[in-house]
Amino acid sequence: MTIGVAVLGSTGSIGTSTLRVLARLRHRFRVVAITAYGSGNLLEEQAAAVGAEFVGLVNGPAGAQGCGGTDCLVTAATRPDVDIVVNAIVGSAGLEATIAALAARKRVALANKETLVMAGELVLRTAREHGGELIPIDSEHSAVLQCIAGRPAVEVKRLILTASGGPFREWHRDRLKTARVEDALRHPTWQMGRKISVDSATMANKALEVIEAHHLFGLAYEQIDVVVHPQSIIHAFTEFVDGSVLAQVGFPDMELPILYALTYPERVPDDAVKPFDPIAAGPLTFEAVRHDDFPTFSLGVEAGRTGGTHPAVFNAANEVAVEAFLGGRIEFGRIPEVIETVLAEHTSGPAADVAAILQADRWAREATEATC
Ligand code: NAD
Ligand code: MG
Repeated sequence: MTIGVAVLGSTGSIGTSTLRVLARLRHRFRVVAITAYGSGNLLEEQAAAVGAEFVGLVNGPAGAQGCGGTDCLVTAATRPDVDIVVNAIVGSAGLEATIAALAARKRVALANKETLVMAGELVLRTAREHGGELIPIDSEHSAVLQCIAGRPAVEVKRLILTASGGPFREWHRDRLKTARVEDALRHPTWQMGRKISVDSATMANKALEVIEAHHLFGLAYEQIDVVVHPQSIIHAFTEFVDGSVLAQVGFPDMELPILYALTYPERVPDDAVKPFDPIAAGPLTFEAVRHDDFPTFSLGVEAGRTGGTHPAVFNAANEVAVEAFLGGRIEFGRIPEVIETVLAEHTSGPAADVAAILQADRWAREATEATC
């Protein structure tokens, strides 16, 4: 029997990488459902190539095979013939599908980090109470999972997540203010979707990842550090209580963490992964984060520490500000200013259920639109 997989966001950067990995592992997995927001033609092509039984186009009419509208995400994620849900949706739109999949006892292979940032406690509680399983695809978190390798959380002293530093790592702060969209999208080490590329340029991405690690590994914020590592070869360090530090190493390629999330805790042969070569990887260097020049990072981590609905507000404000930047409505330097203003206006409440979280998300979107 093969394992049934649903790929939500199959037309994106992580989605297409996932389908490539799955195509190499046909003896083990079958793709039963795929969904996307738009890109109907690509989705149709993918459906034909993988023989998907369910095809969901959120922003499209109901097709013969699948469905349209946002409901199709939950429908795909909870089908009885689906064992693993790869959530490769960008942004808050992935929340309900993650929760529904976990409640239906699926494994969720999660790229959609915004989901965990908005609703980390709720997502983990759902997994615990229903028996669903949450495995990260994010390379840093996959690295930590691989280093921890089943040891209890009490043995972990500290994580050090690495950050490439993004395209503006060496830019002077005055030049940063008016950085252009094409500059922000030119990531030095990773090929990714537009939103996460801008998040890497502001370092919002690393704040989202600190919050993600806090929830996934049950660690306090004081136990999670970040270091800039421009080569993106070491994906994370895990320090244990005895002082020993393990790191996971490899050329930057999302297919490896995707493969691991699908097969965890097993390791299966995959010849397509480029063999590691320390000499080709070149000198590995490390730098401190430039907190003053990339204020979005600290704003995000602080929202995580505050907890309640603050992380959801940070996430929503960031999503709207990034859209506004990509649409030419605000300058790059305005992104952290806008987020800071919206966070300062927010009175945090408990993030107890989906309704409370979505309400905070909606409030933050409106407040951010008004501030942009
Ligand atoms: P992308 O923009 O390339 O793809 C996003 C996918 O989500 C597309 O298939 C799109 O159709 C779908 N989508 C967008 N809006 C939607 C909506 N409202 N409802 C339903 N589906 C929607 O993005 P990506 O770079 O693949 O990133 C996806 C997620 O993975 C993000 O959360 C990102 O932070 C995370 N991630 C990406 C990478 C990477 O290398 N690209 C690495 C680590 C984590
Ligand atoms: Mg990452």
